Amino acid sequence: MSDSKRIFLCIAHAGGTEELYIRDAFRTNWITSLGPNVDAFQDRIDEFINRREDRPRYSVALASGTAAVHLGLVLLGVQPGDEVICQSWTFAASTNPVVYLGAKPVFVDSEPLTLNMSPELLEMAIKDRLSITGKKPKAIIVVDLYGMPAQWDEIDSIARRYDIPVLEDSAEAMGSAYKGKQCGTFGKFGVFSFNGNKIITTGAGGALICPDEQAKKQAIYFATQARTDNPWYEHEHIGYNYRLSNVSAGIGLGQMEIIGNHIEVHHRLNSLYARWLGDLDNVRVVRNPSPDYDSNYWLTTVIFESPLPIDTSNKVRLCLESENIESRPLWKPMHLQPVYRNEVSYLNGVSGDLWIRGLCLPSGPLVSESDVERISRLIRNCVETI
Ligand SMILES: *Cc1c(COP(=O)(O)O)cnc(C)c1O
Repeated sequence: MSDSKRIFLCIAHAGGTEELYIRDAFRTNWITSLGPNVDAFQDRIDEFINRREDRPRYSVALASGTAAVHLGLVLLGVQPGDEVICQSWTFAASTNPVVYLGAKPVFVDSEPLTLNMSPELLEMAIKDRLSITGKKPKAIIVVDLYGMPAQWDEIDSIARRYDIPVLEDSAEAMGSAYKGKQCGTFGKFGVFSFNGNKIITTGAGGALICPDEQAKKQAIYFATQARTDNPWYEHEHIGYNYRLSNVSAGIGLGQMEIIGNHIEVHHRLNSLYARWLGDLDNVRVVRNPSPDYDSNYWLTTVIFESPLPIDTSNKVRLCLESENIESRPLWKPMHLQPVYRNEVSYLNGVSGDLWIRGLCLPSGPLVSESDVERISRLIRNCVETI
């Protein structure tokens, strides 16, 4: 074991002003789930995603990204017994809320370009569900995984053709764009996460991106226990306690001052990985497939493609671990998870391969350029001995 300091995948980094906003919350005694930091944080998010948007979106700050997925599905009217199509290759938080609502996930595999939902399989799944159940799936959850935008033109046109709303899980993709349009604005609803390991953090938190002010009001209503405007507490719906606290929103305000810098660092480290590893045969550093795509490169991912042996990624991970460097297999797809093994899925083998052959590498403001050089050298040595 190397005695050098451990290099982590991606951990929170503060710019310094976060504490000022928090102190302000205390000074003004706004230690609650509403308040000026929450409003200002939502305004900053709106400015960020609406920079080049002709149709503005409205964010609601929430307790987590998972809560945002859940509320998005509630607002899309997902009911017990409905089917919801989900990208299989993702983190469980994209799909668990489908089950919270008593609905059934239908998993769709990835395409090899962006590694997100395959438009071809999506259309096949919709047609097949229609012919088997006689009912359209209620919603489609598409994920911009590791920050890479999905094939939005193709997915959007299929979703429109069948008139099924999309929920965009852009938890990892804040600051990514496709054809100049910000991730989080492609679906009817979008999701950001501010968990400690994401592009920005509020400790824990998230946001639901809403298509209009009416939807924003509804999201706030359901996130605040669904209580009406009466002097007493009156409830016509089942609500949730999902709002972000004014203290946490203070952290978010500080983070919004440095988000541009964070994204720049993630970009730079990705190009360095590509530079140091790019000439290795069958080692693919995942990058934007064309100038239409602008990933934030939340985590740089690398795939050890055939004919390299199937266990290459695991060997590389152990090499890095022995040098006190954290890396991790890519997300294990939902259709292979024990908890989801009985669900319907439409597969082509892409995501099943990714989690065995891929690895995500340390990225973000606490990883230095010389760390990337060292990690790349270790990977190179390891692959060359295989
Ligand atoms: C992190 C994440 C979530 C959930 O966000 P939390 O804030 O951790 O609840 C959802 N989907 C994806 C793809 C994520 O990476």
